Amino acid sequence: MKPLAFPHQLDSEKTLAALIAGQYPDEHGRYGPFGGRYVPETLVTALDRLERGARQRLSDARFRAEFEAQLAGWVGRPTPLARAARLGELWGVELWLKREDLAHTGAHKINNAIGQALLARHLGARRVVAETGAGQHGVASAAACARVGLPCTVYMGQIDVERQAPNVDRMRRLGAEVVSVTTADRTLRSAINEALRDWVSDPAGTYYLLGSAVGPHPYPWIVRELQSVIGREAREQMIAQAGALPDAAVACVGGGSNAIGLFHPFLADRGVALIGIEAGGRGQGLGQHAATVVNGRPGVLHGSYSLLLQDDDGQVVETHSVSAGLDYPGVGPEHALLHAIGSVGYETVSDDEAIAALDDCCRYEGILPALETAHALAGAQHLARLRPGARLLIGLSGRGDKDLPALAARTAS
Ligand SMILES: *Cc1c(COP(=O)(O)O)cnc(C)c1O
Repeated sequence: MKPLAFPHQLDSEKTLAALIAGQYPDEHGRYGPFGGRYVPETLVTALDRLERGARQRLSDARFRAEFEAQLAGWVGRPTPLARAARLGELWGVELWLKREDLAHTGAHKINNAIGQALLARHLGARRVVAETGAGQHGVASAAACARVGLPCTVYMGQIDVERQAPNVDRMRRLGAEVVSVTTADRTLRSAINEALRDWVSDPAGTYYLLGSAVGPHPYPWIVRELQSVIGREAREQMIAQAGALPDAAVACVGGGSNAIGLFHPFLADRGVALIGIEAGGRGQGLGQHAATVVNGRPGVLHGSYSLLLQDDDGQVVETHSVSAGLDYPGVGPEHALLHAIGSVGYETVSDDEAIAALDDCCRYEGILPALETAHALAGAQHLARLRPGARLLIGLSGRGDKDLPALAARTAS
């Protein structure tokens, strides 16, 4: 597949209408010029089979009922929509939090993990492989595989295995095998490559459970379908509890799964501004941040044509963020399209701004959010200064207990 030319003349209105009508991804797995499949021939058949199977199951009433039963009885959905009165007063806005931190295993990732684990079982897989960076998707996958009764192997870079020891224990306790990857950069990128290699060796018996809205088609689409429950619930809850839709919905963007899940059901609501917040890290220089949409250029990473952080030679660069879950040089192709047509605004907040917002959320709301989530909070705080009195919805993607060691280390240094 050759990347389509970009910059690309996109008619924003027509493209948005097509997105709302469900015409993206198109039959080539494209979101306008983005997305598609840049994989070795051996994976094309497996991805085709996965796409056919997923299309059939996700539109099948019996599969959906099974998924919804797991969401209700095991994940704990619907998650609450909570008015944050004190933090809202501090920032001068009407603030609402969609509490994905209260979902089982502590973040939105479980929605995708249990959905794909069910899909794996329906498609006849004998085992599941997954990749993980900080370990959150690995934990969600291990839990989901235990729940549906499938063995699970999680690939994790050696450096991450060392710095995320509690999550490694958690995965093993949940019955998963954790494989430490010692090739290349020994972090998330190498883990994804190893998981893909495993899948290629047995594409029929193995299911690859990808953790964000990235990768080759059909993954960005599957993940969006499974995570959209966040936005559907939040939209209904806003109407029921606030009596109106928000003026803006704000979410943090790593690979982009919690953000696409929150935003997608609001795309037709023209009065709702959608804002994705990326990791601005320590500063503007290449390697100092993980702001892929804001600073990236089009290119291919992990089987998909999207925006990515690269140097002048097109080499993917190292990223930095205080938050491990946002520390990735790529982003899902649907976000690249939403940025190109201006339907979602993307902004950055720094490590320090995120931590300050995290502290506010702790002290004014009694909620310790994840460091990833703290970026969405700081982004909402920016917005509050521009639009005092606005009604803001924040995707509270996860809880921050996992980040206590990282927070303590910063305070000490
Ligand atoms: C993994 C993670 C993220 C980032 O991933 P997305 O796919 O961009 O949602 C955000 N928040 C939390 C709590 C996470 O665990």
